[in-house]
Amino acid sequence: MREKLEALQAEAIEKVQQADNLQSLQDVRVAYLGKKGPITEVLRGMGKLSPEERPVIGELANKVREAIATALDNKKNLLEEAALNEQLQKEAIDVTLPGRPVKAGGPHLLTSIIEEVEDLFLGMGFEIKEGPEVETDYFNFEALNLPQDHPARDMQDSFYVTDHLLLRTQTSPVQARTMREYDGNKAIKMICPGVVYRRDTDDATHSHQFTQIEGLLVDKNVRMSDLKGVLLEFSRKLFGADREIRLRPSFFPFTEPSVEVDVTCKVCDGKGCNVCKHTGWIEILGAGMVHSNVLRMSGYDPEEYSGFAFGMGVERIAMLKYGVDDIRHFYTNDVRFLSQYHKA
Ligand SMILES: [Zn+2]
Repeated sequence: MREKLEALQAEAIEKVQQADNLQSLQDVRVAYLGKKGPITEVLRGMGKLSPEERPVIGELANKVREAIATALDNKKNLLEEAALNEQLQKEAIDVTLPGRPVKAGGPHLLTSIIEEVEDLFLGMGFEIKEGPEVETDYFNFEALNLPQDHPARDMQDSFYVTDHLLLRTQTSPVQARTMREYDGNKAIKMICPGVVYRRDTDDATHSHQFTQIEGLLVDKNVRMSDLKGVLLEFSRKLFGADREIRLRPSFFPFTEPSVEVDVTCKVCDGKGCNVCKHTGWIEILGAGMVHSNVLRMSGYDPEEYSGFAFGMGVERIAMLKYGVDDIRHFYTNDVRFLSQYHKA
């Protein structure tokens, strides 16, 4: 009887060790400690033993039962711990993984240039004005000294909406509107950025839609030297502090005298290269003193007031500043092109 119990204990503990999951462990518990198990059977058969043997075997049977129960409990703890570890491992989030970056956009290059120019002129006390893109013939042409049949209208072939309405060919009508708003008796310092339209055939340097920034200053005793000072400040801010400018005589119907403004080439520093066609100079904008007819038509007395105006193509400025070789890049919206100019 004693040997049988000891053999049972050894056998049960071995089975416990072999159990590799909680279910098989439970099976071992039922098989050895259950009501129909061998130990219960031994205890039932105690009645057949002699009175001397009974307490000895009884005690031994209890010890065996306890030993098996302890082994089962220990193994159960081990298996539960292992299961928990496995679950933790499976559900773990690796916090050391770098996050997925969110792609940030940025302003379009033309918008950046406009904002840069606006900042500069705001700093010099100019205000920023806007006007309609569908404009009347009067404001787009006539108020700017371009009467019907003026030959210079041909240079600005237009998209007409009706006989008297067209997509503006320049931002100058905003100047005419502002002069009218100021009633002919107040000083004006303004710039007007905006989109303009002409019936051009699109190629590397022409587009049927482009962006202008024009400026106007009207006050008493405004001189050409004031214009040159403002343009020099503008050119140095945009193209570099050591730039020089020169004014060449030109013609515009709304200014007299009129000038084309050149800045020294940034690439060759004025020595001459392919970019500046070996002249050392690059044309950046047109300007001039406001024509007395324009002042008069907008209610300003040219005997009392004078002024200057200038206008530039934003695309041209961007192309010169960043060496962009095709104006169409600005409108095809290829992110590979545009993202090169996003400020960090
Ligand atoms: Zn050059």
